[in-house]
Amino acid sequence: MSSDTPTRGIAILGSTGSIGTQALDVIREQSDFLHVEVLSAGRNADLLIKQALEFKPNAVVIADPSLRDKVFDALFDEGIKVYAGDESLIQIVEMEGIDMVLTALVGAAGLRPTLSAIRAGKHIALANKETMVVAGELVTSEARKAGVDIHPVDSEHSAIYQCLAGEFHNDLEKIILTASGGPFRGYSSDMLASVTKAQALKHPNWDMGAKITIDSASMMNKGLEVIEAKWLFDLKPEAIDIIVHPQSIIHSIAQFEDGSMKAQMGLPDMKLPIQYALTYPRRLSNTFPRFNFLDYPSLTFEAPDFKAFRNLGLAFDALAKEGNAPAVLNAANEIAVARFLNDEIAFAQLPDVVEHALSRVSFQSAPDLKSLLASDAEARALANEF
Ligand code: NDP
Repeated sequence: MSSDTPTRGIAILGSTGSIGTQALDVIREQSDFLHVEVLSAGRNADLLIKQALEFKPNAVVIADPSLRDKVFDALFDEGIKVYAGDESLIQIVEMEGIDMVLTALVGAAGLRPTLSAIRAGKHIALANKETMVVAGELVTSEARKAGVDIHPVDSEHSAIYQCLAGEFHNDLEKIILTASGGPFRGYSSDMLASVTKAQALKHPNWDMGAKITIDSASMMNKGLEVIEAKWLFDLKPEAIDIIVHPQSIIHSIAQFEDGSMKAQMGLPDMKLPIQYALTYPRRLSNTFPRFNFLDYPSLTFEAPDFKAFRNLGLAFDALAKEGNAPAVLNAANEIAVARFLNDEIAFAQLPDVVEHALSRVSFQSAPDLKSLLASDAEARALANEF
């Protein structure tokens, strides 16, 4: 890039997390093309301050208001604006100077800031899959109205997105999302009954935040990704398949109407899909490690086990039902995972909690944002009561 080309201004919602910190690695590497306009954290004020001192954003947001003064005092001399609380996040994404918002928050908390960014005409780099699960129809229709692009960050969806480049005249027959199978691949229901939190938090291929790591172990992550894919690529549920691929080298596959398949491959490293989303449509040179076929002489594939990993079936059912069912699935799962991480329920109970909420929240076929948020709240209450 020549030095007089304006750089792309990025707001990172969740800059202190796994995706957020890797996004900053990408921005550090691509500083001729990208710069940071906004950083935001939940509670990790120390890391937020450190990041702000390095990247000199225009503004930062700390979600926990009790930490605002600490961040303010540390950044006062730099002239960096400091805001606190959830509402600030919704407002800050409208700021002039932001070209793209990377949504790297966990859970349905990402929905309102994402909608706000879209309505303000900001392109989205979407890591926060729960937003699409809760309100995919609303989010995609608002994006179309605002002329905003949604670039997926999830490695599977980024793979499909990359396979679709240059194929806009050609319809997909189906997509195949790959799944590593997580730490409990091959386990029966009986074996899952006695697994521990430490085992569930140990993903074989990816180093990620706690919530998505548990979702990967329970296969809910793949279920959420199926729903995310439906909205991102406008697909019918029967056009989305899952294949277990333990090496996580093929990140997903697009199959076109003539039967031809395109797969996107690479090492399991989120920096590549993050960079593709932030610099889209450009592919910029970088120093990330390269894949070598000889390090992986066999790439293997297995059918997913819907019997042992009941979350998969629950997610496909919610997708087929549509309406508020995916929002209920997501909310109940967020509570179940939080309670599991807090040692209050066993791993095998995760799908029980989700099933309980899905069977009790009354179904709505065409919910608006208010009804979706009400269903989310009702599902959380039911999941907690369970
Ligand atoms: P982490 O838990 O590592 O990070 C979450 C980030 O969001 C942190 O910065 C955290 O702040 C902030 N945060 C959490 N809750 C709130 C809240 N209520 N309000 C404001 N900020 C909040 O998660 P990941 O980076 O692993 O995942 C982020 C999203 O990306 C998820 O939706 C996940 O499914 C998706 N994703 C992640 C992948 C990965 O490799 N990690 C891969 C593909 C998708 P703090 O820590 O300061 O409290």
